[in-house]
Amino acid sequence: MPGGSAVGVPFLDLQSQYQSIREEIASTIHEVLESCAFAGGPYVERFEREFATYCGRQFAIGVGSGTDALWLAMTALGVGPEDEVITIPTTFFATAEAISLCGAKPVFVDIDPYTYTMQPELLEDAIGPRTKAIVPVHMFGQPTDMDPVLEIAARHGLKVIEDACQAHGAEYKGRRAGSFGDAGCFSFYPGKNLGAYGEAGAVVVDDDALAQILRTLRDHGQSRKHDHVRIGWNARMDGIQGAVLSVKLKYIESWTDARRRHAREYSRALAELEELVTPFEAPNVRHVYHIYAIRASNRDRLADSLRSDGVQCAIHYPTPIHLQPAYRCLGYVENSFPVAESCADEFLSLPMYPELVESQIEEVVSSLSRHRSAVAPPA
Ligand SMILES: *Cc1c(COP(=O)(O)O)cnc(C)c1O
Repeated sequence: MPGGSAVGVPFLDLQSQYQSIREEIASTIHEVLESCAFAGGPYVERFEREFATYCGRQFAIGVGSGTDALWLAMTALGVGPEDEVITIPTTFFATAEAISLCGAKPVFVDIDPYTYTMQPELLEDAIGPRTKAIVPVHMFGQPTDMDPVLEIAARHGLKVIEDACQAHGAEYKGRRAGSFGDAGCFSFYPGKNLGAYGEAGAVVVDDDALAQILRTLRDHGQSRKHDHVRIGWNARMDGIQGAVLSVKLKYIESWTDARRRHAREYSRALAELEELVTPFEAPNVRHVYHIYAIRASNRDRLADSLRSDGVQCAIHYPTPIHLQPAYRCLGYVENSFPVAESCADEFLSLPMYPELVESQIEEVVSSLSRHRSAVAPPA
C-alpha cells in the first residue's frame, strides 16, 4: 500500500522494514535455533565485534537493554551511593533511573534551546564535591557538543558515560557517537534506529580492563564459571538478538541516510510554516533523526488535529524527569529548567522511519499546514 493514504501515516512502521529483510532474518534465527546458542554465545560475540568496529571502539559488550548498558557502565566506572551524576531532564526516564540504580543521585542541567542536548556552560555550576560522572544524552540522534563536556570532565576528574541510545551512527566532528566518553551506551529496543526483535543493548569502550569488568557484571559477577568476583546481575544479550542485529547492522547506513533525507524533506516543506520550529542541526554533526521533533505552542491541540487526519505523532517526552512523581524526593520545582520545561510543552514528534515514502511526508505536511491556525508561534 504505497503512500498508505487510506490508513493515514503511522508514527513508526516496523512491519515494512521486517518485510524487506525477512528471508535473512528467518535463516539467521534458524541457525541460532539449530545451534541452541540462546544466551550470549557466538552470535552475540560476532555482533559485539561488528558493533565495536562500527562505533570506532575496541570493545562492545552486549547486554539486555539500554537501561542495563547505562547502569552497568556507571557501576563499572565506580558510580555508587553518595555520588552525584549530572545529566539532562528531557531524556527518556531510564537515563536518570540508571543513575539511581547505582545508588547515586541524578543532578540535572538545562538543555540547549537549539540542539536539545546538554548545555556544557551549565556544568561548572552543577559540579560539587560528590560529582562522579557526567551523562550527556545525544537527544533525538544529535550528538552533544562533546569537546567542552570532555574538557570540563577532565579538569574535574569526572567520568563521562554517553547515553547514545538514540544515536547509532551519529557523528560529532567525524567521530561516531559513543566513542568519546569512558563508555558509550546503546539501546536496541525494537523502535530504535538499530532495533532488535526483542530487548537488547550494548556498552562500547576502549579500555580492556573496563571491558572485562563489564563482561563479569552482566553475568552475575563471574570471571569464569562459579567464580563470582563481584556482585553483578543477569544482563546477558540473547543469541537471537545478536544474530538479528548482525543482519540489521549491514543496513544501518542506508537506513540512516533515508532518515536524513526524510528530515531534510520535512524541514524544507515546513520552513514556510513559521508557527512551527523545525530541528536545528549543529555544524560538524551527523544527526541520525531517531526522532524528528518540531516545536509548537498549543502542541496538544495540534497533535489531536493531526490524529484526526490519521497522522500518528508522539511526544518525547511530555514531563521532564525532574518533575516526575518518582523524583519528587530530589526537591526540584517548576521553572528549575526553563528550556527543558518549555520544550516538554512544545515538542511534537512526526512520523519518522527509513521506509517513509514521499507521499506520506506530503500527507503529514499538508495536515500540519491545514491545522496551523491551531498554534500561535512559540515565544
Ligand atoms: C531507549 C532509551 C534508553 C533505554 O533503553 P532500553 O533499551 O529501553 O532500556 C535510555 N536512554 C535513552 C535516551 C533512550 O532513548
